[in-house]
Amino acid sequence: MVEGRVGLYVCGPTVYSYSHLGHARPNITFDLLVRYLKYLGYNVRYVRNITDVGHLENEQDETGEDKISKKARLEQIEPMEVVQKYMNTFHRNMRQLNTFPPDIEPRASGHIIEQQQMVETILNRGFAYEKNGSVYFDVEKYNEKYQYGKLSGRNLDEIRTNTRKLEGQDEKRNPFDFALWKKASPGHIMQWPSKWSNGFPGWHLECSVMSMKYLGEEFDIHGGGLDLAFPHHECEIAQSVACRGKESVRYWMHNNMITINGRKMARSLGNFITLDELFEGTHEILEKAFSPMTIRFFLLQAHYRSTIDFSNDALNASEKGLAKLMGAVNDLNALPVSDNLTVDIAEIKEKCFSALDDDLNSPLAIASLFDGVRIINSVKNGTEFITKTALEDLKSFFNVVVFDILGLASEQEVAGEKDTLFEKVVDLLLNLRIEAKTRKDWDTADKIRKGLNAIGIEVNDTKDGFEWKIV
Ligand code: ZN
Repeated sequence: MVEGRVGLYVCGPTVYSYSHLGHARPNITFDLLVRYLKYLGYNVRYVRNITDVGHLENEQDETGEDKISKKARLEQIEPMEVVQKYMNTFHRNMRQLNTFPPDIEPRASGHIIEQQQMVETILNRGFAYEKNGSVYFDVEKYNEKYQYGKLSGRNLDEIRTNTRKLEGQDEKRNPFDFALWKKASPGHIMQWPSKWSNGFPGWHLECSVMSMKYLGEEFDIHGGGLDLAFPHHECEIAQSVACRGKESVRYWMHNNMITINGRKMARSLGNFITLDELFEGTHEILEKAFSPMTIRFFLLQAHYRSTIDFSNDALNASEKGLAKLMGAVNDLNALPVSDNLTVDIAEIKEKCFSALDDDLNSPLAIASLFDGVRIINSVKNGTEFITKTALEDLKSFFNVVVFDILGLASEQEVAGEKDTLFEKVVDLLLNLRIEAKTRKDWDTADKIRKGLNAIGIEVNDTKDGFEWKIV
């Protein structure tokens, strides 16, 4: 551990389909964590992986096809085209939600050798066995010395009663053993040579390997959705402990799940909403489109460890709340100052930061902002008074919390390729063009229009001046 530094590893997506609400929550939760740690002055290294191989359809019992291979077969494209396509969408959606990109985004397929090395170490230490070219982790053996299931509060007897033995799993000594290396079936598209077989790594292995590679043998925080606690994170712990004799992670953080109109989100229930559908309002259960910032605000209004229920009503309420908050932020610039001070800014700040210090209590931090909104409105209406110094203090508090920590950028800033600064620059050029036209300098006017066209901006003259758009 190095003073002032934080190593954070978060389980990233398996990129075989469009990003959905389930991706928004962990990424916004850990984005808030990164932003707050940075605000506190920590030097954060944020690692979030991309799973592009090894994640099987039925993750609990490790059966079925590799999710990416299956999609590649169905779409008749290369597995890495599947990966690229959905990874691009994921990145775009995460930008729309105004989340910071990770500092390192390692991919499972880029770390096959390191994963094979870890399999070898676990085998050498006697916690794994090979069968027909596949290598499995020996959970029972591990549990004799260490405790399997401690993170999710399970013990092996419970796990034993709750795990079914399935057809075709005869290779495993026990049904709860998990694959470290899988021999590829003949038709399997993604496979690599190894001393055991041509195959691919088990899904849980990549996170143990890549967290250790980029954050060291021991690191501070490992995050992910609560659905990953078992078995994925238990398996990660077992792998790391089997290699090193002790755990790698100091703190585990799990965000809770999202329900939709009170029900679990599942493709089979028809309530599986992708982020694009949400932003465009194209899913049948949505009344209308909701902006990325409304979604971000909605998620931050709940504590990350609580479940949260999506509904049109709840989203409408968040949209209104956000508009009210942003309206107050704008009003801050035009508030009257006086020699009198009748409001207490320190109290709001204290409430906000102690909430964030207490396990990232974002709903309480947001409540403190609304205390601030009430103050802003009272000063605006003339029922309360604020001094120049206190107003500066309030402005800087709002800027830090609303924009830097909660990441609630203004709508235009994240709406797409046009951000406010960019718009101002284009407007400036087009105003110069109007001036050129007024003095009959057609060459310059033309040069500006053609120059903008060349970089993808279409300009139309209107009776009031001009309109432009990105084409
Ligand atoms: Zn993981």
